[in-house]
Amino acid sequence: MSGKRGLIMGVANDHSIAWGIARALAEQGAELAFTYQGEQFGRRVKPLAESLGSTMVLPCDVEDPDSLDALFAEIERQWGSLDFVVHAIAYSDKSELKGRYANTTRENFVRTMVISCFSFTEVARRAVALMPEGGAFLTLTYGGSMRVMPNYNVMGVAKAALEASVRYLATDFGGQNIRVNAISAGPVRTLAGSGVADARVMFNYQKKHSPLRRTVTIDDVGGAALYLLSDLASGVTGEIHYVDSGYNTISMPQPDEIKR
Ligand code: NAD
Repeated sequence: MSGKRGLIMGVANDHSIAWGIARALAEQGAELAFTYQGEQFGRRVKPLAESLGSTMVLPCDVEDPDSLDALFAEIERQWGSLDFVVHAIAYSDKSELKGRYANTTRENFVRTMVISCFSFTEVARRAVALMPEGGAFLTLTYGGSMRVMPNYNVMGVAKAALEASVRYLATDFGGQNIRVNAISAGPVRTLAGSGVADARVMFNYQKKHSPLRRTVTIDDVGGAALYLLSDLASGVTGEIHYVDSGYNTISMPQPDEIKR
């Protein structure tokens, strides 16, 4: 990744999936810029970014279009161009990440969609202007988009829309040599992950029943992200790539696992 410059959006702390991705990219020589949501997160993100030699650490709240404009104006001012963007951002009101999906409120539905889905499109639209030679985008999704996961609710609906937008954006920008992909990660213990009710039950279930008999680490996700953002994946776009210890391939647990 030497000579490539990328933006990492969504590091909250050193447990964040975006942090695992950033580490993998930096190890291979990429130059990185980071965003943080509000000063409280900023205090955590700045030293992490510095530890990877990054000097560009900028605020961005994706609910605010002015904040997005200011972010890309600053990247353009400092770098002039961009090779890749990692979007690892999601939010929904915790009180609706439990119980029945049918009870989702209109207000939280819209907010969840704007932050967790539409922000990717808004980011991509601005970033492509800085990719005259081509580039790559990566977002993060979860298998609750395709199959019902307890309590994932409106986030599952938002992830389904996010995955569809990966395919549409891949077509929109493919002619400009810009690739757009997603990683569907298995459960990871993060701030966002712990917002879903009974997260620990889901985590342990997938750990027990995945083909690999373990959950994934942020380094597992980082390795796959590195591939998708590098020239090794030059022919790959519009793809939802599972990094979930194979859990998505399972229809039901092995009989001996059920009996245990
Ligand atoms: P995390 O809490 O570390 O990261 C979530 C990030 O979203 C935070 O950095 C937060 O600041 C940011 N964010 C939320 N609202 C924002 C806003 N309005 N503006 C800007 N940033 C905002 O958790 P994570 O698990 O690393 O989540 C990263 C991505 O991975 C999310 O899209 C999440 O849905 C996805 N994902 C997580 C898991 C899991 O089990 N943890 C599994 C699959 C996919």
